[in-house]
Amino acid sequence: MVNLKRGMPVIWKSRDVSRNKEELEVLLRRLPKWHAAYGQVEKDTYTETAGQGGEERFDHYFAASPVAFSHLMLHNVTLRSFRIFQLDSVMITPWCVYIFEIKNMNGRMEFRDGPVQMLQTRDDGTVIGRKSPIEQIAENEWLLGEWLGMRQISLPVRSVLVLSYTKQIAENVPASQPVIFSHQLPRFLNQLSVEPAIFSMVEMKSLAQALVKGLVIFQPRPICSNPRYPIDVMLRGVWCAGCNRLGMERRYGSWVCPGCGVSSKDAHLRTIRDWLLLTGEPMTNKKCREVLGVDDRRLVTRLLSDADLKRTGTHKGAKYLL
Ligand SMILES: [Zn+2]
Repeated sequence: MVNLKRGMPVIWKSRDVSRNKEELEVLLRRLPKWHAAYGQVEKDTYTETAGQGGEERFDHYFAASPVAFSHLMLHNVTLRSFRIFQLDSVMITPWCVYIFEIKNMNGRMEFRDGPVQMLQTRDDGTVIGRKSPIEQIAENEWLLGEWLGMRQISLPVRSVLVLSYTKQIAENVPASQPVIFSHQLPRFLNQLSVEPAIFSMVEMKSLAQALVKGLVIFQPRPICSNPRYPIDVMLRGVWCAGCNRLGMERRYGSWVCPGCGVSSKDAHLRTIRDWLLLTGEPMTNKKCREVLGVDDRRLVTRLLSDADLKRTGTHKGAKYLL
């Protein structure tokens, strides 16, 4: 139930768990370190973790902000206009829609025109050219404007660039682009000048409902459908959350790690889920024995049927899916 008490921040839609991050974690566990793609997976994981950290920080400061005007906040909104576009956070107010674009990048960010791009100088001194977040903001404003227009909704769209930490140094930001740090969000919202209302609360809620209804839900593809990650090279074995090694052994009804000695009742669940995310194919008893490194058919039948999985077929033909 959404809290509509005046002064409290109102979150209409919260942020979902990132499937992308889970897939990268599966790859870090299952791809051998010698594999050509391993280094890129490490880099992607770093970027994904930083991005998620930046969003969590924004959400934290929003939740702590007293907001004196009517508003509805929606986190992580992916919509389809001429093409699919993703908005980090969207705040509906009676006079406009604000898009918050959240960036957590290390080092110095220099914004350039002609061509429009951003030069990022990382902490280690390397310089790379990136798509400018300001260009991305302009595209998102345009795409959301079109999305609203197709539904005969006329409410202006404005954007705020949010940098997660003050160690991020932004240079040459166009004066027309509002930029804040996450920790400045409460004061930014407090000082926002309230403009004459175009929308009533009823209309604001109906827009929030339309945004949720229009969300693009991705049907994730199996990780190994990407030829960069062939299933044949993926490492088998039960993963130990204690020391991040594979190869926990079954002893007296538990999984025990020969590396660090940690024992676990349900370590097989993560490993089965890893495998289902990798292949997208139903898990059979035989395949499961191979992946878990055990040869006890009856044990594996019990582990699979106790796991929270969808079962098709019976007895020897049983297969299990997420
Ligand atoms: Zn261990």
